[in-house]
Amino acid sequence: MPKDRFTSYHDLLKVYTRGKDFSVSTRVGANRPDVLIMAPHGGKIEMRTAEIADAAAAEDYSCYMFEAKLPSNNRYEMHIASERYDVPDALDAVKTAKVVIALHGRVDDEDASRIWMGGLDAEVCKSIGDALENAGFPVLYDPPRFKGTHPSNICNRGTTKAGVQLEIPLSLRQAFKKDAAYEKVLVSTLRSAIAGSHTEPTSLAAKA
Ligand SMILES: [Zn+2]
Repeated sequence: MPKDRFTSYHDLLKVYTRGKDFSVSTRVGANRPDVLIMAPHGGKIEMRTAEIADAAAAEDYSCYMFEAKLPSNNRYEMHIASERYDVPDALDAVKTAKVVIALHGRVDDEDASRIWMGGLDAEVCKSIGDALENAGFPVLYDPPRFKGTHPSNICNRGTTKAGVQLEIPLSLRQAFKKDAAYEKVLVSTLRSAIAGSHTEPTSLAAKA
């Protein structure tokens, strides 16, 4: 796994300027403020993840985006690991979120096609994963890395202490970059999967 320059937002801020080198934005969903879609490594770290989070949240769900904007080396300079993710805006946003879905981008490595599904909320993970499969996006449950099971992973810091993370391979994100309509299929699949999973009466109530 590539190394990160900084282990905390505090240290990153000693070197870089918010609003110039990176931006952070949060908004509260009009319909389901307690559903939070996050892109903790957006902009030039894990490209397309912020755009996908933004579109999937739309006005309905809450949204958090970190977007790196350096001319180069964004991965090394601006990636704060999910387990150590301490941007105050993100910590605030998860505090009131019942459903947290974090979107990440991974390099292809041995698997260029599947979205790796992680996080401690097995139920929402499965409903989103199954919806993706049905829409033609193959997924992998229990991936070899990026399992997202650490309790301090930002996706697991909502009110249920269990969230979901998606690791979207680079090839797929490159395809999205060339084909906006293809990306929209992913966005609308996420939106309907989220709408379906959190309205199940037994789904979250049982866990709360
Ligand atoms: Zn990431």
